[in-house]
Amino acid sequence: MDPRRLDDLARSMATGMRRRTALIMLMGIAAGSLLGRLSPYLVGRAAAQACSQDIPTAASLQAARTALAGGATDVALSPGGCVRYRRWSTSTPVGAWANRELISYGGQTITEWNHNVVSATPPHSPFPPPPFFFIVSTGTRDGNLDGFAEWQATIQRVIPLSTIAGPLRTAIEITEYDPNSRLPVRRWTKTYPGDGTVHVKLEEGAGSLQVISEYDRLAVVENNEPAPATLNGHGVVAVQATSPVSIPCPAGLETEVRNLLPFAGGNGGGCLHSLGFIAEAAVLAQNSLRNFTLGCAKGSTGWQAQIDTASADDPLRAIELKINLDSWADPSRRETILFHELLHTVFADEHAAPLEGSSKGDDARWREFDRIGSCNSLCYNPNATKCECATCFGKKICDAPCDSLKGCYSTQRGGFCPCKDEARKLPERWYASFTECVTECPKGTKCFGVQCIQEENACK
Ligand SMILES: [Zn+2]
Repeated sequence: MDPRRLDDLARSMATGMRRRTALIMLMGIAAGSLLGRLSPYLVGRAAAQACSQDIPTAASLQAARTALAGGATDVALSPGGCVRYRRWSTSTPVGAWANRELISYGGQTITEWNHNVVSATPPHSPFPPPPFFFIVSTGTRDGNLDGFAEWQATIQRVIPLSTIAGPLRTAIEITEYDPNSRLPVRRWTKTYPGDGTVHVKLEEGAGSLQVISEYDRLAVVENNEPAPATLNGHGVVAVQATSPVSIPCPAGLETEVRNLLPFAGGNGGGCLHSLGFIAEAAVLAQNSLRNFTLGCAKGSTGWQAQIDTASADDPLRAIELKINLDSWADPSRRETILFHELLHTVFADEHAAPLEGSSKGDDARWREFDRIGSCNSLCYNPNATKCECATCFGKKICDAPCDSLKGCYSTQRGGFCPCKDEARKLPERWYASFTECVTECPKGTKCFGVQCIQEENACK
């Protein structure tokens, strides 16, 4: 069992080692020992200041879920109601569901989804026009509450029969924009040809995007589609009984996960809010209330839990979650495992494939370079380090607020070898030591003349 690999669904999506600037404004007032040390550095904006202490909690999320299950359409996600979730329902040719969803903070829209039935064939669709119906969802997220959505998504689905159950997804396109220049900087396009695979394309750049990677893989959800009890419903955790789940989930696990999710969303999400990731915390909190499907595994899977981000990105779906029961055996780990998985639903960062080679036997070093692992640690590990802070915030370790934390696990600077050695079947990879990188990197037959890139954190 390799505890550092909490999941690996997107391990193949190598995006290189970069410290990306978080698309957030730092605001909020912190509580708790670690957050207390960070709080003086969190600056607020006037509109949000009044709400800065109204942070989602486990209790407020439990109450929201109960209200939604009872048919409420406008619920507070935080105790004082600053963070809210609203939904509007409609009747369509293929059934009724919430066709508009909104998460707001202090009256400002953080994220909005519109789900519309259309009869014209959208682009990317391998399916013909009606009698098929299509549901096209458009989503936006404004992380820094400046009125410009730095995250924009379009999801297309086809409904082959005149039923709303199990619409098939045909394409997801997510674009991230630079909050300052407002130019596109990253775009994921996933197209589903309907044969159980997904074609993934990642483009990056500043304004004009270039293809960084492109590949096909198994479409986890589409291969094993459970019809959710209701589209964009709340609070149902259903066990998924078939492949690729390796063993049946034990009795009671659904209830346990269902009960724990608001704690991960409230405690972990509340921490995220206090760190200044207000939009992410709000979306994470709402995600913790959504429908889930649950699968189970045991033994040396290489992960503690897995979440399918493609299902999480789509609010009309249940979020697909898998748990390795060996990791779940320790009750003190359960909430942090769920929080880690929920973090994947709000940060686009995947676990970077180049880290895999360097991570062998060094959990702490891996965590300090991995954004999800670092943010997870800041919220659940009282001994979080400057390096974890730097990775989570996209800052340097000598920058506030990170400079007030414990020293990095290693003072060494690492190196990134940008050569993908196809001949030796070696991916581009990260080395914990720059010296080792310099020695190893140019060795591959295809890597002649390739230079290592030294870890950019100058404060080490
Ligand atoms: Zn993970």
